Amino acid sequence: MYRGSLIRSGGNAKTIKGDKAGEYETAIMYLAPAAQSGMGNVCPMAGQAGCEMGCLSKAGRAAIFNSIVNARIAKTRRYFSDRAAFMAELVKDIEAFVRYCERKGVKPAVRLNGTSDIQWEVAHPCVRYIKLKHPQQEREAHFASIFHAFPEVQFYDYTKITKRAYRALPANYALTLSYSEANPAYANAVTKTASETGMNVAIVFRTKALRNARMASRDYTGGWSREVIDGDETDMRFSDPRGVIVGLYAKGPAKRDTSGFVVG
Ligand code: SF4
Repeated sequence: MYRGSLIRSGGNAKTIKGDKAGEYETAIMYLAPAAQSGMGNVCPMAGQAGCEMGCLSKAGRAAIFNSIVNARIAKTRRYFSDRAAFMAELVKDIEAFVRYCERKGVKPAVRLNGTSDIQWEVAHPCVRYIKLKHPQQEREAHFASIFHAFPEVQFYDYTKITKRAYRALPANYALTLSYSEANPAYANAVTKTASETGMNVAIVFRTKALRNARMASRDYTGGWSREVIDGDETDMRFSDPRGVIVGLYAKGPAKRDTSGFVVG
């Protein structure tokens, strides 16, 4: 279990299942979703996608402990108030996680948008200090993104920002589109983007039984036929085959969602 100032592993049931396989360990960053921090919106599509009410940030331990919510708000405020300092903190945290994974003999996986939808691939440069052969010397290296700074890390996220699917993403960053029927225009945009790019789409079904029925039929709707895979088995979306529906089922407050984010 890794505990950093921004990312942590071992706190998510799905990543724990994946980590048990022994190949990867996954650390996730949880910020305060949407505009909860009061300083800006880290989920620009939350309104259109209607996902804020059923957002996972309200599930699990965050639903019980105010201290967890407050810690996420504090992190998000650091992100908005001093971006360079935040990226420096993130670099240090990921470096420590990489060392932790080396000691454990596993590969590091990082999901930065545990409860946010930030476009990390644009306008988020960072600096990493690379150690030289002489133990006291290091070189300041500038990178276009955190993904370029850590080629040894497998990054992945879910996103509701369809334009991200059209970008040439770094090879170590896997994105999965997140579906919602709260707004027909948004649902159509995801469907169109998925068919044009082949990107995988995560759909939250109302119940496990409904998700399993869709898996059995290998189809989500008559509109577009794709294999539905079990997205709850692990959270390692970077290992999924391309061109599938990642089938999830609603948990926590999402079970009561009526916005259209949860389907069925
Ligand atoms: S589901 Fe994702 S996009 Fe929606 S509010 Fe939560 S973190 Fe933001």
